[in-house]
Amino acid sequence: MKTATGCTVISNGSVIIGSGAKPIPDAMVIVRDGRIEYVGPAKQAPPVEPTASTIDACSGTIMPGLIESHFHATYFNIEALEDLDIKYPVEYVTILAACNAKLALECGYTSARSGGSLFNVDVWLKKALEADLVPGPRLAASGREICGVGGLMDWNPDFRKIGMEGLVLLVNGADEARAAVRKLVKDGVEWVKTYPTGDAASPDANDHHTLCMTFEEMNAVVSTAHNHGLKVTGHCRATEGIKNALRAGYDTLEHGTFVDDEAVEMILRKNTPVIPALYFELASIERGPEFGLPPRVIDGHKETLEGGSLSARRIIESGGRVGMGGDYGFGWNPHGQYARELSFFVNYVGFTPLQTLTCATKTGAEILGRDHELGTLETGKLADILVVDGDVLSKISLLEDRQNLIAVMQGGIVKAGRLA
Ligand SMILES: [Zn+2]
Repeated sequence: MKTATGCTVISNGSVIIGSGAKPIPDAMVIVRDGRIEYVGPAKQAPPVEPTASTIDACSGTIMPGLIESHFHATYFNIEALEDLDIKYPVEYVTILAACNAKLALECGYTSARSGGSLFNVDVWLKKALEADLVPGPRLAASGREICGVGGLMDWNPDFRKIGMEGLVLLVNGADEARAAVRKLVKDGVEWVKTYPTGDAASPDANDHHTLCMTFEEMNAVVSTAHNHGLKVTGHCRATEGIKNALRAGYDTLEHGTFVDDEAVEMILRKNTPVIPALYFELASIERGPEFGLPPRVIDGHKETLEGGSLSARRIIESGGRVGMGGDYGFGWNPHGQYARELSFFVNYVGFTPLQTLTCATKTGAEILGRDHELGTLETGKLADILVVDGDVLSKISLLEDRQNLIAVMQGGIVKAGRLA
């Protein structure tokens, strides 16, 4: 991805660094050749050449670009799970994925980690993004997911003889788990996404208290993936699935819905980031009925929402790391509404706005393994910056409306927002 050349000065706003530190009032950010040269009070800023371009933050907020840590580029606002793999051919889904990436950037998300993709679409989307062929977040790709046979993601009936090939690699036992990871290594993914547990979406055979992979399968995934330099994450709702993932050495946990004391202790000891992706549950409860979600599924989402909120609060209050991401791409939780996750964590779960923004910036960069160059506004880092009209800390919902974004910068280039 290209970076800017020359100098840009952003002023007339407060700076949120992204580290959790208090905002700096009357601040200035100086960007040179795509990287941050100065962040601090405007009064102490070094002089810059008169030819530098300027951005007026309009007494608003200057902050790091947001990071979506659970992004499904190929989910095209589906209304039924089976639409994910059989409604459209992969050619069309690829185009939809490029549109979703563009939308995410326009919403202020300058980086994202994939939480699973149809075929290898996100791997190639990433290449297109890196080559500046299409706009979108800096992406970490995960390709197809891994699930046990008969588990949450194995829904196409056998009589159709179509398998689940486009979405998941189904495994039985450690050998097949290793084989699946090796396939993904060849595909070029950076993250291996697995399904240790079920979900409220599948109340009959794979609900949120059901395990969908054995510890041996998960352990085989981790050792093979780590050997090849890949990271591993998993859809973890049931308590035992969470602990299996932690014991196996997962690099992050998606959802981490039902933690107990032992699970929290393990999360802290291993310092494993957890991405609750929790607003999806509220959206499913509030809007699911109009999309035909049955009452049993809604009840499961209610239990998940309560358990997930409690767990997220416990983890953050005891010093653990939480990433922000959201399973956007369902009819009732569509792409473009990513920042609802942030408002939800403040208004419903009880995180402070500053905590929430740190989760969505600094922790996001740590999850990506790119915290040395992304996630906070610090000298030397890439200038992935959001300039927002208004005080985000006093009204976090400002981030939900793209109209409030003055500039969305990647590497110092204004890619979206009013100034684009
Ligand atoms: Zn997901």
